[in-house]
Amino acid sequence: MNLIETSNRLILSEMKFLILTSSAFLILLMSQITDAQTPKEFAEVWEKTHISAKFPSNVRHLDVKRYLKKLEKLGVKVEEVGRSYGNREIFQVEWGKGRTRVFMWSQMHGDEPTATSALMDMFAFLETNRTKKKWVKKLEETLTIRAVPMLNPDGAELFQRRNLQYIDINRDARALETPEGNLLKRLREEFEPDFGFNLHNQQELTTVGKTSNQATISLLAVSGRENGESYPGLERNKRICGVMIKALNQFIKGNIGRYDDSYNPRAFGDMISAWGTPVILVETGGLHGKDEMFLIKLNFIAFLTALQSMVDGTQEKADEEIYENLPFNSSGRLYNYMFRDATVVNYGENYEEFVADVAVNRERRRQETLAPTYVREIGDLSVYKALEEYDMLNYYLVPPNGQLRLGSSSKFLFYKKTRKIDWTEENFAEKHPPDAVFSKGIWIKGKELFVK
Ligand SMILES: [Zn+2]
Repeated sequence: MNLIETSNRLILSEMKFLILTSSAFLILLMSQITDAQTPKEFAEVWEKTHISAKFPSNVRHLDVKRYLKKLEKLGVKVEEVGRSYGNREIFQVEWGKGRTRVFMWSQMHGDEPTATSALMDMFAFLETNRTKKKWVKKLEETLTIRAVPMLNPDGAELFQRRNLQYIDINRDARALETPEGNLLKRLREEFEPDFGFNLHNQQELTTVGKTSNQATISLLAVSGRENGESYPGLERNKRICGVMIKALNQFIKGNIGRYDDSYNPRAFGDMISAWGTPVILVETGGLHGKDEMFLIKLNFIAFLTALQSMVDGTQEKADEEIYENLPFNSSGRLYNYMFRDATVVNYGENYEEFVADVAVNRERRRQETLAPTYVREIGDLSVYKALEEYDMLNYYLVPPNGQLRLGSSSKFLFYKKTRKIDWTEENFAEKHPPDAVFSKGIWIKGKELFVK
């Protein structure tokens, strides 16, 4: 190698170095300008910093007050804005000082709790990063966000949908007979928000389109117009839904649905849109194998992604087709538990044996209580699926009271079909212990026979 070659190589490698460092510098510069956070980063931040400390379904009004105390300590504005029918305080949280106004409310249905916890985590994040992250600073300068977490504290306390008058607040937008509904309407009128977020939970057995995939999150850009005509605020919200779907796809692809959009003049989503605040409805369902904290995290990611898109320009550029192409929610395709090809033994009034699939569903309850389960369907259910399925081809399914009925409790005794038992014998279950017992969604005995 001569001297010229060596120096050429040196120049070449220097150039490469220059190109590499300058492009790295450019990337660094761009990231400092946009400073945007990816959905994965939101997930990581949530894992490290969330203030929600228990499963949302176990959260009471008192827990909400504790969370709000924490937010106040961080510097977030919290004020009591009204009382429920049962005289419980209803609070509004405010953050930001911008001209664009965003209004969010959760848990108008008392047994739909996920978003209440997610809002707490969202405000904690925003306040903590107000001076640390450029995009959050910009958010603070561009937006004013107001949120009512737990609009229905009485319902939440009883873990029931309705308020203490047993009125569904979400069917009271026109009649306005509930203090909670009146409050929601007044808060909207005082604030005149540009964006509304109506935050709910849907059944865990809600599915996506023609699949049996759980709809873990469903979205709806609420029109609020009976004739269904489009308008800029609605199109904008469809684009925001698109941004949220793209973000959530990184965690729950195939588990996002589009909520039924039939117009309902008694519902707040529709009326608030009609009154001038186009609403995005977020419905959180379930995901088998994941707990409620995971659902908070998804809400957290979705909310912050939506807010970020309002200030970094991604909202304007987003594709509303992503939302339009989302399959609609469906129901009746999925059960909680399925016992396939069981030989049902009815030994009560009329003795009979027959082969059937038996589907069992679970009612919605707090995480801390064992939810009641009931027989939902009997027969050929081969076209349907369940979250947990058991092959019972070689087993008798014996209802303890001698008659399998729809709606009856789901306690079953299981016997291997090789055993010869006289089902008409008094106290046969004591004389011949069953191989397995399933009750309220739990294997009391014999789990190892079916759960690998
Ligand atoms: Zn609801």
